[in-house]
Amino acid sequence: MRLTAKKIESILVDIVGEQGLPLIHELLGKDNISEFDLATKLKIDIKIIRKLLYILYNHNLVSFTRKKDKQKGWYIYYWTLLPESVRFNYFKMKRDLLERLKQQLKEEEEELFFVCPSNCVRLNFDQAMDFEFHCPECGELISQEDGKSRTALLKKKIDELGIELKELQEQKHVRRKEVKIRKKNARKKASRKKGATQKAPGERAKKKTKTTAGEKTANKKNQKKSVKKKTSKKTKEIL
Ligand SMILES: [Zn+2]
Repeated sequence: MRLTAKKIESILVDIVGEQGLPLIHELLGKDNISEFDLATKLKIDIKIIRKLLYILYNHNLVSFTRKKDKQKGWYIYYWTLLPESVRFNYFKMKRDLLERLKQQLKEEEEELFFVCPSNCVRLNFDQAMDFEFHCPECGELISQEDGKSRTALLKKKIDELGIELKELQEQKHVRRKEVKIRKKNARKKASRKKGATQKAPGERAKKKTKTTAGEKTANKKNQKKSVKKKTSKKTKEIL
């Protein structure tokens, strides 16, 4: 199960309310959007846009960069939705819901409930005792509820949530693995490049006499590589 736009919406609307829905749509899948662009596009007052963005920011769901407008002298803020953070919030929301449902199931299983035949009230045993087993609304005699369908429904929801949470956790592991592999590959690539650069000066000297267009680009590439090598040396020195 992927974190779809609909799911992202459901979490963010919980936080910013229905009012924030168009803003969420605008932020989805884009990076660094100026708050002025958002206000213009959505035809919403910049103050409201800012308020909504700060609410999201306080929940750690967006990040921003800012640039100074040299002519006007003020800062313009550029906003980006943070997918990892949204994912975490979604996970947390579902996890909390699961806890609540488990608690509810426990109560349902431990407690006796009484209902009015006209469905006015549902009371636990102590409450029913207080009203001498009569409905406080209409005065009818209340009777013990058969809670089987209710607990069955709760159990079903708990199972479904459990499965979804497990899947989300597995996806997180997969993503972490992918990041690790990417980093490893990047390191390998970097060390290969370093090896290639060590040969480069000699090659360049040989080919200096005649340069075709193709070789020119190759030389450029070599130059780039040696620049990279220099910077990595510098970083090492700093470290
Ligand atoms: Zn009643």
